[in-house]
Amino acid sequence: MKIICIGKNYLEHIREMEGKIPEEPIFFLKPDTALLRNNDPFYIPEWTGNLHHEVELVLRICRLGKNIEMKFAHRYYDAISLGIDFTARDVQSELMKKGLPWEKAKAFDYSAAISSKFFPLNSFPKLQKIRFRLDVNNQTVQQATSELMIFGFDEIISHISKFMTLKIGDLIYTGTPAGVGPVKIGDRLEGYLEDEKMFDFRIR
Ligand code: MG
Repeated sequence: MKIICIGKNYLEHIREMEGKIPEEPIFFLKPDTALLRNNDPFYIPEWTGNLHHEVELVLRICRLGKNIEMKFAHRYYDAISLGIDFTARDVQSELMKKGLPWEKAKAFDYSAAISSKFFPLNSFPKLQKIRFRLDVNNQTVQQATSELMIFGFDEIISHISKFMTLKIGDLIYTGTPAGVGPVKIGDRLEGYLEDEKMFDFRIR
């Protein structure tokens, strides 16, 4: 399986990063070795001094697809979950300055935390209004609804599938809202989808 992540998909997050609004979905990959599951602790790698949390809605692909039209895109994902796209912000800034790929900052081991819970699409009355949030040490630091996404689920799937075949079990991290920030050893990260606790783990 592969993990596809969307960058710059929430206006307020683009503003906080002083970035530009993209004209089409920006995506990058993480390998399966990036997965962090079962509320296992996240160990900050020694090579970064600024490791950020990015809480994101995650789609699970349920059908093989290529060149998927937007009107059919909803048939290709069947469940939604919550995860964190851990990002070595200092390393990423250096890479961006040099115009280099982001993998070192984004695709390292355990950089893709994922909840063990996946909810079927039909458990949400409106896919456009899914609420989610991240609490760090009992303080809410990121919260949003899917309504704030620049590119919605169907558009993301249609766009990515022009370039790469989507396969059953692939995960798509759909971008982070505003409020990203550094984590430190001892922090407790709790993620919620609607009112359901999705993950709860520590930074080590
Ligand atoms: Mg992200």
